[in-house]
Amino acid sequence: MPSSEILTRPETRVPVVATADVVVVGGGPAGISAAVSAARNGAQVTLVERYPYLGGLASGGMVLVLDDMHNDTEISVRGLAMEIIERMHAKGLCVYPPEADRDPAVRMTDAMWRKWSRWGLFDFYANNKPYPIIFSASFDPDGFKQASLDMVREAGVELRLHSWFQSTIVEDGRAAGVIVETKEGAQAMRGSIIVDATGDLDVAASTGAPFADGAYIVTTVSRMGGVDTDEAERFQFEEPERFAEIDRQARRLIGGCWQHWWLKTPLPGIVWCNCPHMSGFDGLKVADLTAAEFEGRRRMQAVLEFAREHVPGFERAYFVDFAPQTGVRQTRLLEGEYVVTKRDVKERVHFHDSVCRGRDYYTPYRALLPQGVDQLLVAGRHYSATSQAQKISREIPPCMAMGEAAGIAAAQALDAGIMVRDVDVRAIQKQMRAQGADPGDRPAANALVREAA
Ligand SMILES: Cc1cc2nc3c(=O)[nH]c(=O)nc-3n(C[C@H](O)[C@H](O)[C@H](O)COP(=O)(O)OP(=O)(O)OC[C@H]3O[C@@H](n4cnc5c(N)ncnc54)[C@H](O)[C@@H]3O)c2cc1C
Repeated sequence: MPSSEILTRPETRVPVVATADVVVVGGGPAGISAAVSAARNGAQVTLVERYPYLGGLASGGMVLVLDDMHNDTEISVRGLAMEIIERMHAKGLCVYPPEADRDPAVRMTDAMWRKWSRWGLFDFYANNKPYPIIFSASFDPDGFKQASLDMVREAGVELRLHSWFQSTIVEDGRAAGVIVETKEGAQAMRGSIIVDATGDLDVAASTGAPFADGAYIVTTVSRMGGVDTDEAERFQFEEPERFAEIDRQARRLIGGCWQHWWLKTPLPGIVWCNCPHMSGFDGLKVADLTAAEFEGRRRMQAVLEFAREHVPGFERAYFVDFAPQTGVRQTRLLEGEYVVTKRDVKERVHFHDSVCRGRDYYTPYRALLPQGVDQLLVAGRHYSATSQAQKISREIPPCMAMGEAAGIAAAQALDAGIMVRDVDVRAIQKQMRAQGADPGDRPAANALVREAA
């Protein structure tokens, strides 16, 4: 029964279990990058994550394509995003189109479309069909978890799993640590600089920093096994009219999805379903997140039964799993020193303080800086952008690039003994390049340059 009773918690004594230069909260794509990047730049780093694994939506959310890392034929996100791709690729847990298949002479041919479209590795922002094949990567979620663990361990990051962020310690207007809930009770961690990489802006919001309430569709991602993907692709390409009719019926049962409701993964016979799209669920509300699990499973169970009966290749399909982490794309959004707009993203506006890139757009350092609190950086899908802008600039590689830049900024602030908001942006850009990342300091030919440097 719902209740309106309110209890007051007694004051509790909280042990300080760690002290670090940098405390990163959230072990998703942005947080892993921030932690590894800060540690490789000489900072002592503690990384806090609520779940027993790293990767956030990329692993627990089973979001299995790394995209938004290309500007036409150029690869615009490199650095740690590329490193994790190569680590997974070396273990056979990541697939991407080779350079020859991305060549402008062939990338828009029917042959390439047939080869790569069921991997989801194409540019769906392009105007012409077939969509061009571009650099992006399909990967295995456990591969992402393992590669992340390897990277944080090798960088010397202190990792604390099973720790739910609860509140930020703010002293003299500075973020000075965090309190987490654990099976052992509340624990505190002190840090000279805190990075909020929770995706939902939990840390910055708890300091009172301004933010906007964003919202977008929610998805309970799942994987099906026992699929004969060769047969399913043969049906799609060789019986296009029958395929179109059956696919239409499947999509109706799903009730909202992108162009392809299933995509191949590096594991043979296992496909991922980045659907259904469900609106009206608040990604911060327990009741909504609970209801979304029921609704998502109901729809996907219906489509599995339909596919077994009607889609060639799916006769013996079964669910492998539903993602342990609900697919929440957007909740709170920072209102930082600069708020990136949809126009900035779409028009590829170049900023003098760009520290990283996404697809063909640029992210200014100011979008990682909250207002009203010092020594706090924000990296990832809750960065300072309007809701409309975030919807088209929130993919995993750009979030990793933001984290990489934030980690560098934190280490440089510590070295110089200054506030993070006073770090010399040119020094961040230089170090991003030194790490093999692209800070976006050199605008590409299609960028809109309207600011004086
Ligand atoms: C269904 C869906 C499909 C998507 N499709 C794609 C796609 O095809 N390609 C692509 O590149 N991107 C895609 N995205 C977007 C992408 O997955 C996210 O934007 C990206 O993962 C954001 O990274 P992040 O590190 O900012 O946040 P997250 O991945 O959300 O990671 C946040 C981390 O913080 C942890 N955390 C949160 N709160 C707390 C707390 N209170 N205490 C401790 N830890 C906490 C979480 O457990 C998590 O590990 C999709 C997203 C969704 C939901």
